[in-house]
Amino acid sequence: MKWNELSGDVVRLPITALTAQLGFVDAARIFRVLAAEAPVVLYRPRAAQRVAAHAESRRVELGGLLVGKVFGDPAGGRVAAIEICEAVPSEQFDSTAVSLSMGSEVWQHAAVYRKDDLHVVGWYHTHPNLGAFFSGTDRSTQRGFFRESYSLGLVLDPIRNQEAWFIGPESEPVPSPRIARTQT
Ligand SMILES: [Zn+2]
Repeated sequence: MKWNELSGDVVRLPITALTAQLGFVDAARIFRVLAAEAPVVLYRPRAAQRVAAHAESRRVELGGLLVGKVFGDPAGGRVAAIEICEAVPSEQFDSTAVSLSMGSEVWQHAAVYRKDDLHVVGWYHTHPNLGAFFSGTDRSTQRGFFRESYSLGLVLDPIRNQEAWFIGPESEPVPSPRIARTQT
């Protein structure tokens, strides 16, 4: 695999910077979820639609990167929220039934978003008709390349209409109530 860029330089933004840009309904939902300890994932429609369209485009395993912002203690402590603003589909992928590699081009495409202060916050890939789970290879990929406490891993099965989310180097499951699909 040619993973050649890590996003270790992501700055954590104060949570007020996030809620200031949300509508009342979204902000109220976010504050409710933030009362607990685990981070909340804000999934913007633009990113969700791009991931869904890519996932449904071919019935083979494919994937890409998730780009956005990280909110929490600006000193680098607890992550309160991860906002996924954009998805960057990988044009090169080499897949087997339960493994996937992406080319270096996808990292270059993701780097373009740095001008908007967006960074790689995770990755997504599909398991067509295999179910939404993390394989051993997926866990290794997460541990090796998406090992920040905010790093997300999304796996989708577009045929069975399933998805599952994982976070951090040990691929901890993210329960679905923590995935907040925002209205804008
Ligand atoms: Zn997989």
